[in-house]
Amino acid sequence: MFTLPELQYDYESLQPSISRDIMELHHSKHHAGYVSKLNGALEGVDGLSAEITLDTIIKDLDGLPEGVRTAVRNNGGGHFNHSLFWQCMTPNSQGQPTGELMKGLEDKYGSFQNFVEKFNNDSLGVFGSGWAWLMPDLSIVTSPNQDNPVMFGKSEPLMGLDVWEHAYYLDYKNVRADYVKAWWDVVNWQFIEQRFETLSQ
Ligand code: MN
Repeated sequence: MFTLPELQYDYESLQPSISRDIMELHHSKHHAGYVSKLNGALEGVDGLSAEITLDTIIKDLDGLPEGVRTAVRNNGGGHFNHSLFWQCMTPNSQGQPTGELMKGLEDKYGSFQNFVEKFNNDSLGVFGSGWAWLMPDLSIVTSPNQDNPVMFGKSEPLMGLDVWEHAYYLDYKNVRADYVKAWWDVVNWQFIEQRFETLSQ
C-alpha cells in the first residue's frame, strides 16, 4: 500500500507563485487520487511483494498483467512524479543553484538564464498534459501524461515541473507561460543540488 506523502511546507506558503487553493487541491485531491487508484490497481496483482518499491514497479510495467498496466502507468507515474515535484519546491528558494550544479548548467547552456529559457520553452512545448524534467546529465526532457524517464529505463530526474492544467489553471487560467515563469521563485535548489550529487555519480 502506497501512501500520500506529507508536504514539508504549508499549502499557502508557495504564494504568490502557487495559491493555497491549487496546492490543496493538487495534493489532497489529485495526488491522493493517484495513490488510491494505484493501490486499487495493485490489489488485483498476484505475487507482488509487500515491500516492492514504486521505482521497481514503474521500471517494469511490462512485467504487470495487461489488465492493470495502464492504470499503474498513469497512477504510479502520478504518485512518483508528484512525490518528486513537492520536494522540488520550497517557500525559501535559494533563487539559483550553486556549486557543481551551477557550473554544470553554465557549461552546458552558456548561462543559468539560458538554461531557464530553454526549460521554459520546452515546458511550453508540451502538448496537452505532461511534465518537463531536468536529468542528471543536465539535459531537459519532457513526457506526456504521467509518464516519466524512469519508465523508459532512464535515470531518475533531478527535478520535474508539472505542466498539467490542474497545476496552474485556477491561478493563471490558460497562460502556462506565467505559471512556468513564477515557478522559478519557489524552486528548492538545495534539494536539487543534493540529487545532482547523488544521481550524477
Ligand atoms: Mn499534477
